Amino acid sequence: MQALFQRTRRVAADLIQAGSAFVYPPACVHCGHDLSPSANGFCPACTDLIAPHQPDRCVRCSAPVGPHLDTTSGCIHCRTDPFAFERVVSLGVYEAALRELCIAAKHAGGHAVAAALGDLLAAREADGLREHNIDVVIPVPHHWFERLARPHLPPDVMARRLARSLRTNCDVHTLAKVKRTPQQSSLLPTERRNNLRGAFRVRQENLLRDRTVLLVDDVLTTGTTAHRATRELKSAGAKRVFVAVAARGIGRNA
Ligand SMILES: [Zn+2]
Ligand SMILES: [Zn+2]
Repeated sequence: MQALFQRTRRVAADLIQAGSAFVYPPACVHCGHDLSPSANGFCPACTDLIAPHQPDRCVRCSAPVGPHLDTTSGCIHCRTDPFAFERVVSLGVYEAALRELCIAAKHAGGHAVAAALGDLLAAREADGLREHNIDVVIPVPHHWFERLARPHLPPDVMARRLARSLRTNCDVHTLAKVKRTPQQSSLLPTERRNNLRGAFRVRQENLLRDRTVLLVDDVLTTGTTAHRATRELKSAGAKRVFVAVAARGIGRNA
């Protein structure tokens, strides 16, 4: 019954949202408890559950690592991956409540969840990201055919929320996905690395020259999607690209 109630509230939130004028339902989008009008989408208990404090993370890929490890050259999860972007920030590992929410964010009624994940990411990471002087926030794009059946796209929703927090522009048009590809999650890691060759294209190169970009996606696993998108942004003149994702996928659940 509570699940139905939550879902109804989420769908209602979808219906009343309109671009950046999005309004949260007055309840935690995870557990349904009442929230104060000034709160973001999650109550304090759910915030701790979804994104537990994890001080020891790889500075390159955001995977949790052992204490006091120097990860400036990466960690066991990313050292052999040639990332074109600078680094990744995330709320945590793609598992448990965070995994459930990333999946819920994709479905009808998931706009409020995606917005809440974007706001929580902004609350955690915006101060650090501001130090990099982000010029523009760009979501990882979907092919037009993939967009047809989706009520909303979590990376777009999250990117708008992050841009709002960083007081910068969100650009959902300049980077496009021009090739339909199998879902990365349906492929083996070796297949994932080849799947997205030539998939992204920048439509208007002069907009990105010397810009510092924050690229936003819901989940980063091998990093191939963000890497390929970053290469395209950089070939169009972008100076540096940072990546923000809700969750860092590691291992078999990702
Ligand atoms: Zn809650
Ligand atoms: Zn790493």
